[in-house]
Amino acid sequence: AFVEPIRLSAPGPMPFRAMLVLADDTNSKRAERMRADFLANASHELRTPLASLAGFIETLSGPARDDEEARDRFLGIMTVQTERMRRLINDLLSLSRVEMNEHMPPTGQVDLNALTADVAEALAPVATRRNITLKLLEADSETALVRGERDQLYEVIENLVQNAIKYSPDGSQVDISVSHGVSRDAAEHLGARIDPESGRLTLTAPALDPDARFGVVRVQDQGGGIERRYLPRLAERFFRVDGQKSGPTSGTGLGLAIVKHIVNRHRGGFTVESAPETGSVFTVFFPVATASNIATQPDLPRT
Ligand code: ADP
Repeated sequence: AFVEPIRLSAPGPMPFRAMLVLADDTNSKRAERMRADFLANASHELRTPLASLAGFIETLSGPARDDEEARDRFLGIMTVQTERMRRLINDLLSLSRVEMNEHMPPTGQVDLNALTADVAEALAPVATRRNITLKLLEADSETALVRGERDQLYEVIENLVQNAIKYSPDGSQVDISVSHGVSRDAAEHLGARIDPESGRLTLTAPALDPDARFGVVRVQDQGGGIERRYLPRLAERFFRVDGQKSGPTSGTGLGLAIVKHIVNRHRGGFTVESAPETGSVFTVFFPVATASNIATQPDLPRT
């Protein structure tokens, strides 16, 4: 993945405040190598829980056959490993789907307010279990209508909010806000320009119409943040920050790769700002729906 740091500064009380844009710029050779790496990684990731399952099956059908306590414990571990495999396979399928249609412009329009409220509602029980408050601030409704496919945008917001919960301490707060802005604001806010061809934000691309409008979703957590050296790698497939690779927060490392592809397809933007003291802010933005950039059929409401 191509990553261009767009602002690295240390203002105010935050010791390491870093922001960069996660975007895509693969040439064919690199893409080929990445595909090979990907297969190797995917096989490895799937083989690990499988090997563990096989080991426990062997133990349960042999030495631990009549040991009730061991049996319960092993079955517990096997359930966790099975769940991990299920998550991996779901994420792999999702990634392959979003990669496949990345070059097809999205049809339809999505109300970011309603969408974000749905995500917050769906994840509320997960947050509540950890005593985390999800706070949602919506934009005025007219400007929150963006071009896009509802299911995909749902997946983007869901991933960001899920991560914010997952990597935050119990009892903290996650702020989700929906807003809007013109590319001029976005460029100023991000210290970058938006390339209208690729939808990619860079420092050097020719300016987009400064009045092009975006719907913006921002997810801010009070978690441990991400060290600056890891920021450029966040959207790589299977990348996980060291020290977060195991334990209850274990994930697949595919979520942000999926987010990146969906954002690219929608010609939107995706940025992260993170400071170890104050937590992380993930921002995504999508072009506002206009008569000229949306297809004729609107998305069906999600049931
Ligand atoms: P995962 O399934 O591991 O969460 P992601 O692709 O969603 O995979 O994220 C990649 C890595 O980025 C995570 O493993 C974690 O180390 C880091 N990360 C993502 N979101 C956050 C966050 N809000 N706070 C801290 N670290 C995060």
